Amino acid sequence: MTDFQDLYGSAPTVVADAPGRVNLIGEHTDYNGGFVLPTAIPQRTTVALTPRRDRAVHVASANTGEPPALREYLIGMENPIHDWIDYVQGITWTLRTAGQRIRGFDAWISSDVPLGSGLSSSAALEVALLRALRAAFDLELDDLALARLGQTAENDFVGAHVGIMDQMAASLADEHTALFLDTRSMAYQRVPLPADLDLIVLNSGVAHDHASGDYNTRRAECERACELLGVRQLRDLGITDLPRTDALPEPLNRRVRHIITENQRVLDAVSAMQVGDLPHLGQLFYASHASMRDDYQISVMEIDMIVELARREPDIYGARLTGGGFGGAVVMLAHKGSGYNVGQRIAQAYAATSGRTPALLVPAKP
Ligand code: ADP
Ligand code: MG
Repeated sequence: MTDFQDLYGSAPTVVADAPGRVNLIGEHTDYNGGFVLPTAIPQRTTVALTPRRDRAVHVASANTGEPPALREYLIGMENPIHDWIDYVQGITWTLRTAGQRIRGFDAWISSDVPLGSGLSSSAALEVALLRALRAAFDLELDDLALARLGQTAENDFVGAHVGIMDQMAASLADEHTALFLDTRSMAYQRVPLPADLDLIVLNSGVAHDHASGDYNTRRAECERACELLGVRQLRDLGITDLPRTDALPEPLNRRVRHIITENQRVLDAVSAMQVGDLPHLGQLFYASHASMRDDYQISVMEIDMIVELARREPDIYGARLTGGGFGGAVVMLAHKGSGYNVGQRIAQAYAATSGRTPALLVPAKP
């Protein structure tokens, strides 16, 4: 396997990493000013890096094909080319725009976060690279600033209009707590994951692409609904507003219904976690999935199939699509100790019916 030393002939000065994340509940609420509840997964992206004296950036990734191609550009000459290198260019572009002084560097990226599976490999890359650059060039940036810079890079350079959740999770979450985040005020609280719980994350093998249309279409629909309703963000609405929002034209009424009910489900999920009510937490997962499938319409047949298989398992409390949708992964809550076996069983049944190649990402093999 290639590494930094093979590519550049010496050891890196700096090595930094950041985790992927799974969102437990609160989907597409972040760009509406609402609530989210992600947690870090064990898989991480690592960036090894040595600063250069000139403006050249040399970078290769272990995750973009074999053998890894070395890409080059100059700091100050960033230009999107609709390729993975845009995530790297986006970060240096955003740092420069924010007035941070950086030079060129040699870098090597490697990750075990699956790309394009709803586990936020993009934010893991952005935050790992930002951490490496912060260390290499002594940048004065706190973890919140890193998250915001990552989001700006993805929004304004890559062209994917993602909210702040992924970068906040990559920068601030850990594996033992969920990060309960109010994306409007940016207030956050770490809520311990119940001890008697196994998380399962099953990748459906159906890849999505954030930078493509569907995600941005949902954002535009939410903005249009806000105009029609005369509110700044859908966060400004609550359950008592549903009669009014149901009168919106299709499909805006459904989109709004999802956001309003999903925000409430995040609040209810935090309460359920705090009192350790796993059956209630599980019901909220299933309700969230139905809302994404029917109202927000971001699920696909394969994902629905996994959720239905989960329903037949007595050890599973709840299951739902996680991430931006249109493919990706399902997150499930399982009775402690059962996660790996139940996850494998669902994966096998799903593979047999769908012909897809699923991957059980969490829990790791015992
Ligand atoms: P997700 O964040 O859910 O994995 P995205 O579509 O937001 O999916 O981001 C995936 C894209 O991010 C990849 O197609 C690639 O361009 C870039 N990316 C993520 N991780 C890496 C990596 N380790 N090496 C190179 N590019 C990466
Ligand atoms: Mg992403």
